[in-house]
Amino acid sequence: MTDTMLARATAVLPEMVAHRRQFHQHPELGMEEFETAAAVAAALRALDIEVRERVGGTGVVGLIRGRRPGRTIAIRADMDALPVQEQPDRPYSSRVAGKMHACGHDGHTAILLGVGTLLHGLRGEFDGQVKLLFQPAEEGPGGAQPMIADAAMENPHVDAVIGLHINTEIPTGRIGVGHGVTSAAPDGFQITIRGVGGHGAHPHRSVDAIAVGCQVVTALQTIVSREVDPVNPLVITVGTFQGGFRGNVIAPEVTMTGTVRTLDPELRVTVESRMRRLAGGICAAMRAELEMQYSYGYPSVVNEEGMCRLVEAAGRSVLGQDKVLLIPKPSMGGEDFSYFAQLAPGCFFRLGARNESRGMVLPGHHPGFDFDEECMPVGAAVMVRAALDYLGSGG
Ligand SMILES: [Zn+2]
Ligand SMILES: [Zn+2]
Repeated sequence: MTDTMLARATAVLPEMVAHRRQFHQHPELGMEEFETAAAVAAALRALDIEVRERVGGTGVVGLIRGRRPGRTIAIRADMDALPVQEQPDRPYSSRVAGKMHACGHDGHTAILLGVGTLLHGLRGEFDGQVKLLFQPAEEGPGGAQPMIADAAMENPHVDAVIGLHINTEIPTGRIGVGHGVTSAAPDGFQITIRGVGGHGAHPHRSVDAIAVGCQVVTALQTIVSREVDPVNPLVITVGTFQGGFRGNVIAPEVTMTGTVRTLDPELRVTVESRMRRLAGGICAAMRAELEMQYSYGYPSVVNEEGMCRLVEAAGRSVLGQDKVLLIPKPSMGGEDFSYFAQLAPGCFFRLGARNESRGMVLPGHHPGFDFDEECMPVGAAVMVRAALDYLGSGG
């Protein structure tokens, strides 16, 4: 037996589809979500929901008050697109060259507007407040921290937070919940190796930065394979490697950039020094100079047990007993929902949006990415049910 929430949410599917397609056709990159934020604010105002704009940049916060003051639950959606050229053409494809909602954030934003519609209609049936967090720049440089710095989690103080991400590996009609750590900390580095340039025929008069750089790339993988407990995940990816002028010239300099992913905060803080020791040692041994920058990105999302149970119960109630999947392993992707979940118990769950018959199977960030819009009432219904259950809908 399921409750009636999915039917209620399905009634607002047409407006969610209209919002989603509008956002999809007009994608905006992180901290440039001006039109998107304006459309969100206008939609909230049309519902008579209290709105705060320009929160931490282009963020928007909506506030729905129930019958009496009480606890506050926040529900978060990210609004930014990616610098990806969409392929192929669909009726609702991006109209902006080189920009695309390739991660489903258009859907997240449309779902949260649907949640606003539903909860505003139900405001006479719960105590406390629901805060709707429309966040910029999840794909970078991050919008959660600026929103928090701009008091998004205060006035009223947020006691719990939930969020979702569309996922085309899970069929529409299901959700997935991971307990504890569910995403990685995505840190980054840039390494520049300086040698001495020269003629390709006379290497002994030079210090070949490419030869040194190749040793460094290879050695970095031994941090993963030889220095760290194999059951404690670590990824070191060198994503770019640039240097040199032409085939008969010894390259004086190479620059490489990459990403480091960890789940364990204690391991996380050791990686930079390990990389500096190894790269520095190789450069010293091979007569080159090392310059290295290391930057720390988002922390891991850590789902709180009680909030996981709340979302799982909401999912079973709305969708059915067998529609809530346990996600056993974390993702090595990053997600800045983590900052909200550091301030209040949180649960970030996956919303199934896979539809094989309609070809909606590609992963996020792919130029052909698309998701099944039928997932939107599913996500909205689960979030509304979870919010009502958290706040207590009994009279
Ligand atoms: Zn993404
Ligand atoms: Zn995303």
